[in-house]
Amino acid sequence: MEMDELDRSHYTLHACAHCKGTGTCTSGPDGASCMVCAKRNELKKGLYHGLACGTCGGLGKTDTMTYRMTHRTQPILSISLVFGSIGLILLFGFAGSPYFHEVLTFCTTLLGSVIGYYFSKNPKQS
Ligand SMILES: [Zn+2]
Ligand SMILES: [Zn+2]
Repeated sequence: MEMDELDRSHYTLHACAHCKGTGTCTSGPDGASCMVCAKRNELKKGLYHGLACGTCGGLGKTDTMTYRMTHRTQPILSISLVFGSIGLILLFGFAGSPYFHEVLTFCTTLLGSVIGYYFSKNPKQS
């Protein structure tokens, strides 16, 4: 993707709407942290004060572009990798290609690393 072609304003850091730029969630009752952020911090039910904002990760600022890039491009990339590999295996398998075993080895290694990456990094999100 050509970064320069995109509108520069996308790179501006915006004050986080959820915590109003403070980095601390005060959306709950009496300035306590809200349920969503409590959940993000892996806390059970109850009132917590001064929790790190779950929306911006406690930074107080959100970079919408980077956020979208990391949260949308990565899954799409790995999904297309997975489907591409499966497609290659099927293609070479049906064609009876002499390189089938090489392709199969390559693809299963690739799939293994993609799956391994997701299971080790985001065990709850994947
Ligand atoms: Zn919150
Ligand atoms: Zn925030």
